[in-house]
Amino acid sequence: MNTKDRATRILLKLQKTFSLPKWTALSRKLFRTLIRTVLSQATADRNTNRAFRSLSEKFSITPKALANADMEEIKEAIRVAGLYTNKARVIKNLSHMLLEQFDGSLEFIYSLPLEEARSKLMSLPGVGPKTADVVLLFCAGRPVIPVDTHVKRVSGRLGLTPQRSNYEEIRGALQSLYQPQEYLPVHLLLISLGRKYCKARKPLCNQCPVNTLCPSSQISD
Ligand code: SF4
Repeated sequence: MNTKDRATRILLKLQKTFSLPKWTALSRKLFRTLIRTVLSQATADRNTNRAFRSLSEKFSITPKALANADMEEIKEAIRVAGLYTNKARVIKNLSHMLLEQFDGSLEFIYSLPLEEARSKLMSLPGVGPKTADVVLLFCAGRPVIPVDTHVKRVSGRLGLTPQRSNYEEIRGALQSLYQPQEYLPVHLLLISLGRKYCKARKPLCNQCPVNTLCPSSQISD
């Protein structure tokens, strides 16, 4: 079976195994999504949610409010997210830059050609390819597959992407295997698989729903 056929079967199997989270409807809350994604870097979901909630209780989540906010107060609010000094600096700097260069608006992600919108987002402080792709996919439904740690690990083990490849190579390889309308479910379902079965340290290959399609499967008796 070639990789494309295997990729199709893997997706079908994952769609039968996991239900997609309810929040997959596109969010128009661009700036909130951006700030949440910054907070999520190297942080578990639970702590990301707590930090975002705490930040929202203290400030309105707008470029103007956060550009003017006291740095120490931002740090205190997002402490639970870890790397909080760096993240507070990023939040403040990108709020400033958004105000100064983009009139406080991220609406350009809807109208500009994809690569142009992506590079504009990535010109903001602290916004790397993953953060840009999350905002493009979840807020604008643009055809990109964000590659987080689960997507990287799981797609590599499944042999869908080359080992030791960089972000763009993984994204390109995955996108070439699926249709643009499948990018959102592919991203979410690979994360679900990584969380429940294909864990970083001890993958649960025996119970894994795609173990017959996985070249790294280690099934024991
Ligand atoms: S069979 Fe094992 S290595 Fe392959 S995807 Fe499933 S859990 Fe991961």
